[in-house]
Amino acid sequence: MASRINLGYNSPNMTGGQKILLSGVKPTGRPHIGNYFGAMKQFVELQDQHKALIFIADLHAITTNQEATSLRQDTLDLAIDYLAIGLDPAKTILFRQSDILEHANLNWIFNCLTTVPYLQRAHAYKDALAKNQEVNVGTFDYPILMAADILMYDADLVPVGQDQKQHVEYARDTAEKFNRVYGGATFKLPEPLIIEGLKTIPGIDSQKMSKSKGNIIPLFAEDAEIKTQVMKIVTDSKTPEEPKDPATCNVFALHELFSQDQLPELRQRYEQGGIGYKESKEILIANLIKFIAPLREKRQAIAADPNKVKAILKAGGDEARKLAQAKMAVVREKVGLNW
Ligand code: AMP
Repeated sequence: MASRINLGYNSPNMTGGQKILLSGVKPTGRPHIGNYFGAMKQFVELQDQHKALIFIADLHAITTNQEATSLRQDTLDLAIDYLAIGLDPAKTILFRQSDILEHANLNWIFNCLTTVPYLQRAHAYKDALAKNQEVNVGTFDYPILMAADILMYDADLVPVGQDQKQHVEYARDTAEKFNRVYGGATFKLPEPLIIEGLKTIPGIDSQKMSKSKGNIIPLFAEDAEIKTQVMKIVTDSKTPEEPKDPATCNVFALHELFSQDQLPELRQRYEQGGIGYKESKEILIANLIKFIAPLREKRQAIAADPNKVKAILKAGGDEARKLAQAKMAVVREKVGLNW
């Protein structure tokens, strides 16, 4: 996998030479194919060469979701989604953030080192202000909770999109500040892992595919839903005979992901004329179903045994807690909170 990695650290012995990779995922409902190609798939590929920790960021989720039943369901669903796409609990520590009380504990210690003007520079806070949203303290403070999430486990690498590099910068600044104030090298400075060549997947309305815009093709969609959504993809009104530009066609953008084998032929037919959008969509539907149906079936099989999924999360939590408690023992000593 192509990746730009510029490490300032060697990985610790406890991981047998493997880098520690950490990522948090917010439980926010059904994932779509943009989430899959833009993020989820990468985690599964990266778990083979790294010591990976993936947590379900339920503490971050309650900044916006304050409905207990839906939070519980979304959390379980997200674990099922990840297991269905191939996250392997034997390789990856999968856990719930709130299961590790130390995250909130370290968040508080970092809060006491963080100034308000510094947090006011965070993109998400500035966006919320620009939209005149009333911002709760949790949302304002989320970069520092994120810093606690990352630094707790001595993460070397945090996979992020180009627009999310600021998250890792907050973690690095916080690590540096703690190390400076309390002396020593308690926290390792993490690096962003930027996956090259990731494209933004367009939704059926040609804007970025996004849960909030209602323009998604769900990753585990039923066949009927796939058909309905693809048929709704916005195109221009060219006739089948007219030449078409693959670079500006939303249907073709999805062919690039799902119709690899037919791509040269499809490109030629687009450029020369001779394929209508209806036919192009029908080919896409067939290929999407071929891709999604086995994933959906795997998901259904996993979802049939929620207790097993909960047991996986509990085991992941037990493993993560050991790491977190060991780290917090050092932190408490440094800060003067132990006796
Ligand atoms: P979100 O659901 O917006 O929180 O996104 C979760 C992850 O999926 C992030 O890493 C995004 O970069 C990625 N992602 C979301 N939507 C898209 C999209 N339309 N195309 C590519 N990646 C996406």
